[in-house]
Amino acid sequence: MSDITYDLVVIGSGPGGYIAAIRAAQLGMSVACVEKDSSLGGTCLNVGCIPSKALLESSELYSAAQKEFKRHGLLVGDLKLDLATMLKRKDSIVSQLTKGVAGLFKKNGVVRVEGWGRIVSATEVEVRSAANGALTSLSTKRVLIATGSSVSPLRGVELDGQRIVTSTEALCFETVPEHLIVIGAGVIGLELGSVWARLGAKVTLLEYLPHILGNTDAETSALALKSLGRQGMQFMLGVKVLSATVLDDKVVVTYEGTSGVAETVSGDRVLVAVGRRPYTQGLGAAEAGVTLDARGFIPVDHDYQTNVPGIYAIGDVIPGPMLAHLAEDEGVVCVERMNGIKVHINTDAIPAVAYTWPEVASVGATEEELAKRGVAYKKGIFPFVANGRAKALLATEGQVKILADAVTDRVLGCHIFGPRAGDLIGEVVMAMEMGASSEDIARTCHAHPGLGEVVREAALALDGRALNI
Ligand code: NAD
Repeated sequence: MSDITYDLVVIGSGPGGYIAAIRAAQLGMSVACVEKDSSLGGTCLNVGCIPSKALLESSELYSAAQKEFKRHGLLVGDLKLDLATMLKRKDSIVSQLTKGVAGLFKKNGVVRVEGWGRIVSATEVEVRSAANGALTSLSTKRVLIATGSSVSPLRGVELDGQRIVTSTEALCFETVPEHLIVIGAGVIGLELGSVWARLGAKVTLLEYLPHILGNTDAETSALALKSLGRQGMQFMLGVKVLSATVLDDKVVVTYEGTSGVAETVSGDRVLVAVGRRPYTQGLGAAEAGVTLDARGFIPVDHDYQTNVPGIYAIGDVIPGPMLAHLAEDEGVVCVERMNGIKVHINTDAIPAVAYTWPEVASVGATEEELAKRGVAYKKGIFPFVANGRAKALLATEGQVKILADAVTDRVLGCHIFGPRAGDLIGEVVMAMEMGASSEDIARTCHAHPGLGEVVREAALALDGRALNI
């Protein structure tokens, strides 16, 4: 047993776990964070958000150099792809950030414990060292589960890490695939499909639903589909993948099309991106009495406490959207509530972003949700093509759509398809957090020339007062 009894042991060092550990330490708690991997930061920093954004940026520049630089009057001559350097830059960003978390732990006095954490009870966590298998026992007052998620498998499609892979391997292909088949046109499928398409691969996406990007506002996801199609990505929607078979250096994917007949498509790599599931393997949660629901998620109350007093859970492992920024907020709120600070998360104001080009960003209700709930709403739309900054950036595709209550004018949702949508959405998230009306956004002075003016114009358009169209 450890010499000290910690106030809190956090299991998992992803954005949920490491942020919770730091905030708990700021609040004066003695904290240990157990991580099975040698690198801190979880999926997001190591094999998720951060490395994918690095490759998205590099591939975007490559594509712009090929297709757009000449419109700026820039002639680059013989442009070449140095994939090894591109991958090295990505790895270096990951390394800087994961080491950064280690530094933050040191600075805040969070004790890092390397090894596999298993919950014995709300007051004891056993850790098996990754280096030598030795077992140590941590004594604690509370346990916080922040173990995240892992890739959902797909029946009939066996991952081999070479030809049939997950997003982890698709971040490291050493050569550009000739034909990448992506199963699932959700966020991961679109982001990694974009990377390899821009670098020269033929990319085909097979999607079960009749549209891309899951529950995204239908008009917005249709705009994204059209744009990505124009960029060269091929979509087969409403199809069900039945199997994938490796034949030498090819993979044959069999799917059932809309006609109900089995068809095949073959490529040299297959990326399986059909969602993620909560990761509780070997955690000992169920054995310690923690209830898991039918899909393996851990239900929690408003304190993020499980059914076992003293055992808490946050992030991808609990029901709700799997988003790094939501996990962070849950971590902060969970440990603040442990300390008597009665804060909560406004689940209506959580942004979601797909980092395609242009980006897709949303917050709040979609038109479909409002219609289903019978809420009377007004909408305002403004296109980027009527914005000076967007023209200067050569990024005029897309629009901002704001939805507001027809009676109170309170902002209910915003859906952006356009340049830097992931940054622009922040303004509307803040507005919704403050209970703002669309008139509040319309009356707020926005810097000129800026992409933010499109948000303001969309708010003006709600009332038929857009000025620049
Ligand atoms: P997702 O749920 O976003 O998309 C999976 C897609 O696969 C869905 O559209 C689904 O209909 C489809 N699908 C499922 N089974 C299928 C089948 N048999 N054949 C064809 N299509 C099928 O999941 P994801 O893209 O794997 O991402 C996993 C999680 O990670 C998500 O919760 C996502 O929000 C999160 N994530 C977020 C970001 C971001 O915020 N930018 C980036 C990457 C991942």
